[in-house]
Amino acid sequence: MAVKRKETIECPYCDHKQEFESYENIELSQDKDIRTKILNEELFSFTCEECGKKAIIAFPCLFSDMDKKMLIWLIGDYTEDQKAALDDDLAGSALSDAEKKFADNYQKRIVGSINELKEKILIAEDDLDDRVVEVLKMLCINEVIDQLMHLTLQEVRYNKTDSGQKFLVLVFAEKEPSMIEITMDMYNTVKDMFMDDIIEATPKEGFAEINAFWAKALIEANAEKSEEAEKLN
Ligand SMILES: [Zn+2]
Repeated sequence: MAVKRKETIECPYCDHKQEFESYENIELSQDKDIRTKILNEELFSFTCEECGKKAIIAFPCLFSDMDKKMLIWLIGDYTEDQKAALDDDLAGSALSDAEKKFADNYQKRIVGSINELKEKILIAEDDLDDRVVEVLKMLCINEVIDQLMHLTLQEVRYNKTDSGQKFLVLVFAEKEPSMIEITMDMYNTVKDMFMDDIIEATPKEGFAEINAFWAKALIEANAEKSEEAEKLN
């Protein structure tokens, strides 16, 4: 069930104020339309009545998926305090016993951007573990790092073609994105090598930040094994 909210938003271009309909939480398994609207960003799209320009609004929202047993908080560019407040709610008296039991069985994540949210949804749809994908991403980048010397790598996102071929999109400040093809063999190799470390590095409480920083720390803590894994790819 989706809980909606209405708020007044100021157009970033002309300052015109108008009502914008957003959501407090969204259940993904019940509504295939909502998935499409997230992936094409229509859900976050704001069109100004006054100047006609469009903007993307990453409103705070808790996305849940009963089938994939996943909870993802989207808070645009969240602060440590905001994350701490959500973690406190999760651990504290805000939840009933039933809700706590429910939350314990779920993978809990927090993301700071719509791109990260979209990626988490795609990864879950492919029945992959986002932690393995983050480690795989970091190993793939380390392997091609010499070719990226003079470029600013802004983000690396998991994606796939309509035919199911999985790939990483490397987004640069200076040029068009590049793609790196990834295979299930690569995924399974990383999973087999690192699963124990991944479990150990996954926060037991709160909404986990499973992203490039997390993967980098894990790889640095397992440097020898990581060098070996890069060769295998
Ligand atoms: Zn406007």
